[in-house]
Amino acid sequence: MKAIRCQQGSVLLAPDTQEPTPEPGEALVEPTRLAIDADDALAADSEFSGVLGHEFVGTVTEINLPKDNPTRQQLLGQRVVGSAHVPCSECDRCKSGLSLHCAHATTLGLEARDGCFAQRFVIPAANLVPLPDDLDDDRAIFASSLGRVLHAARMLRLEGKAFVSVLGDGPVALLAAQVMATRNASVRLLGTHEANLELCTKWGVKHRLWHEVGRRHDQNIVFDCAGTPESISLALGLIRPRGMVVLMRTASTLAPSGAGVSPALDPAAIIHDEVQVLGSRGCAIADAVAELAAGRVDVVNLIARRLRFADGPQAIMAAKEPGTLKILLDAA
Ligand SMILES: [Zn+2]
Repeated sequence: MKAIRCQQGSVLLAPDTQEPTPEPGEALVEPTRLAIDADDALAADSEFSGVLGHEFVGTVTEINLPKDNPTRQQLLGQRVVGSAHVPCSECDRCKSGLSLHCAHATTLGLEARDGCFAQRFVIPAANLVPLPDDLDDDRAIFASSLGRVLHAARMLRLEGKAFVSVLGDGPVALLAAQVMATRNASVRLLGTHEANLELCTKWGVKHRLWHEVGRRHDQNIVFDCAGTPESISLALGLIRPRGMVVLMRTASTLAPSGAGVSPALDPAAIIHDEVQVLGSRGCAIADAVAELAAGRVDVVNLIARRLRFADGPQAIMAAKEPGTLKILLDAA
C-alpha cells in the first residue's frame, strides 16, 4: 500500500507500507480526498515518525464491531469525515467526560499515531461522521477546520453587538471570520497576507493588515488563530477590559523543542484589564458537516491548489510557505 510517511525528518512516498488492520472499535477507511495545511508541515519538522495526515474524506470499507452493532450498520460503506483526536477511553478524564483532554490521547498523523495519507488507514469508528450525498468531497474536507471554529464559538457569550477581531489569515481564521459575522457581531480579520485578506471582501467582512491597526483596547473578543508572539501581543493590545482572548493554536505546538517560537502572554496586561484568556482545541465536527451541507460558509475559495496523491511530499513542503491555504490531494 502507498502512504506518505515522515521518517527521520524527511517526507517520502512509501510504496510498500504495511496494510493496517482495524482493532476492536476501529474502522478501516479508504480516503478519496485529503487536505494538507501548516500543521502537517509542522509535524514533518517535528520528531513525528509514521504516516502523515489528519484531514480526510473517505469511505468505510471495514469495521471491527459485532454485526448487530448499530454504529457498524450506520457507517459501513458510508462516506465519512472524522476527528483526528483519539482519546484512550479508559483514563479518569475520559471516564468523566473530558476525553478531549485525555492525557494519553494520540492524534492522526500528528502525534504518536499513523495518519490518513495512505490508500487505507484505521481510526476509531466513534470518531467518524457520515456525510450527506449532496455534500461533495471538496467541501466536506473542511469539516475539521470549521469544527474547530464552531467549538470555540460555542464557548462564547455574545452580549449586544460585540466587536470581534480575528487574527491570522489561514483557513481557520478565514472560517472564524465568516462564522462570527453571522452572530450579530462587528467582525474584522487582521492578517499579514493581502491575497488571503482580500477573500473577506466576498463575504462582506472588514479586513486590514495587522500592522496597520491601532492598539485601542476596544474589542470584546479577539480570536488568535496565528499563535505567534506577534499575534498574542497584538491580541492583548486590542482587547478591551474584561474582554476575552481566544487562543486557537500555537505555532510551537508541534515544533521540536527549542525550534519553535514560545508565545508569551504578558500577565501584567491580563491582570490590569481583567482579560479572560480561553484556550480552544476541540472540534464540533458533526455541527460542521451540517453547516457545510447547508452552504452557510464559503470554503471553495480556501483551496490553494489540488494535486495528485503522489505529489503529497512536495505539497507538504509547499504548505510551509506562509499564507498557503488548504492544499487538496485527490486520493481516489
Ligand atoms: Zn483517556
